[in-house]
Amino acid sequence: MYRDYYCGETNEKMIGEVIELSGWVNKRRDHGGLLFIDLRDRSGLIQVVFDPEKLSESDIHWNQIRSEWVIQVKGLIQSRPRGTENLNLSTGKIELLAQEYTVLNISKTLPFELSDYKEETDEYIRLKYRYLDLRRANKYQVLKLRHKVVKYIRDYLDEQGFLEVETPILIKSTPEGARDFVVPSRNNPGQFYALPQSPQQLKQLLMVSGVDKYFQIVKCFRDEDPRADRQPEFTQLDLEMSFVTQEDVLNLTEKMFIGLVQSVAPSKSINSPFERLNYDLSMELYGSDKPDLRFEMKIKDFTTQSKNNQFKVLADTVGNGGVVKGLVAPNGNNYSRKQIDSLVEYVKALGGSGLIWIVLEDDPKSANQDFEFKSIVKKYLDSDFVKNIGKLSDANIGDMILLVAGENKKTLEILGNLRNKLGKDLNLYDKNDLKFCFITDFPLFEWDEERSKWTSSHHPFTMPHDEYISDLKNDPSSIRAYCYDLVANGSEIASGSIRIHKKELQEEVFSILGYSKKETNELFSQLLNSFEYGAPPHGGIAPGIDRIVMLLAGTDNIRDVIAFPKTQSGFDPLFESPSNLTADQLKELGITVEKP
Ligand code: ASP
Repeated sequence: MYRDYYCGETNEKMIGEVIELSGWVNKRRDHGGLLFIDLRDRSGLIQVVFDPEKLSESDIHWNQIRSEWVIQVKGLIQSRPRGTENLNLSTGKIELLAQEYTVLNISKTLPFELSDYKEETDEYIRLKYRYLDLRRANKYQVLKLRHKVVKYIRDYLDEQGFLEVETPILIKSTPEGARDFVVPSRNNPGQFYALPQSPQQLKQLLMVSGVDKYFQIVKCFRDEDPRADRQPEFTQLDLEMSFVTQEDVLNLTEKMFIGLVQSVAPSKSINSPFERLNYDLSMELYGSDKPDLRFEMKIKDFTTQSKNNQFKVLADTVGNGGVVKGLVAPNGNNYSRKQIDSLVEYVKALGGSGLIWIVLEDDPKSANQDFEFKSIVKKYLDSDFVKNIGKLSDANIGDMILLVAGENKKTLEILGNLRNKLGKDLNLYDKNDLKFCFITDFPLFEWDEERSKWTSSHHPFTMPHDEYISDLKNDPSSIRAYCYDLVANGSEIASGSIRIHKKELQEEVFSILGYSKKETNELFSQLLNSFEYGAPPHGGIAPGIDRIVMLLAGTDNIRDVIAFPKTQSGFDPLFESPSNLTADQLKELGITVEKP
């Protein structure tokens, strides 16, 4: 009744046809006596011409049509007059000459312009009117991409014999290292459900049931401190498999991601196979467990060369048990002094004591390709030392060596951040490159300084490497686990592990984590009990859907890939939520609110 085609589907083959279209008025141009509008729907635009001579008498109000009105038009598809074609538009060679129209609804002036390129409007306003913001073509394209990603994954896993199983949202605490969102139970005053931080225990229980290969595209909820790239609720592809080793999970994940990118984002280039790096090596070479492998720039260790150095800063650092490590910025001689100073400030802001920079220069007097160098601390530096570290790091004339001295972990962290900054500043990669890698063998535990206790690096259900199992308590910090992350272009995309499936081992891990017997029982008895009834070896992984779509859409803003996101502080400007409950609701729930 409303239309024969989508606007963007019309084409030159239809010239001469009388058709009906419906959509929004994207833009109107009044050419005195003639009105041109672009009619828009989710598929694109077509130009519609209102010529009063061609319209019936009842359509005399044509000139009142305004932007964002919803109209239905019947008319003739014709070629645009020569010279007026718009080759940027798929329908740019044709137009619809209106014969009849109906106004289906009118619209107030929108609170902001819809042009794809004019997004400077305050994001809060755009979120408050998200239904309007989503009218933009680029926003629709992201929704479509997300749909395709999820469809590809569902089809792929279905072919591989996986079963999609839904698990409850009203459940009990499922720790993944964040706070729980809770829901009060009216029938049980004072008692609460917790929303799942992930379906971790549920998917493990499904393995005990013999489901064997499970997946779910599922909402997870984590009450964490606000951060730009986080949302309190987000979507995971949660998957779990029985009778598998780490290799089986990684291979399946790798095949799925390569197929996914080739199918839904063919313009991106993706590496194959994915590099695999263990955690310790990744920290050593890239100063991060999320290395961006689109560019090389590995961290070099110059500690040995800095021992007994004539430059006291270096010698003292090593003498006090510290390290001297560095990076080579290719063509760093292009950096201005101001830019170099800002790198020094950057390192200081990260807690470093300073940054030593050395620019390698040609030595015109030397016959055997020796080099000279420039540095603000040149007078303290021995030229043999500079030559030595220049060779060790394969630096060329024109490159800049950057050194950080200090405690090992902190130094690596600083260099890891600096490496990412240099990669970006120096344009060391192509925007269309996707470089995936698996980081494996994470530590099982981390020491939490603040709370003076061990915490899980991932979650408490992770299986330690076999050689540590007989003596977990001896040195928890040394234990490595069958635990892995999938990383792409410097972002964590997925995290997973082989799980513990024996009760005694799981109980021992809980005890190292500081859970009393009573707490263990209250929180985890369902899982521990299930392990007494023949739990198979199992493992899995959970890629973040939002992260995948961000990567493929090329955005750093997680709110771009979620239809109705919350602000960074977890507020929903559209529904104005969270909000108060009525006094009656609170009474019914047995809740009294104490405002801070
Ligand atoms: N449940 C884990 C997470 O949400 C993923 C996994 O281990 O499968 O990070």
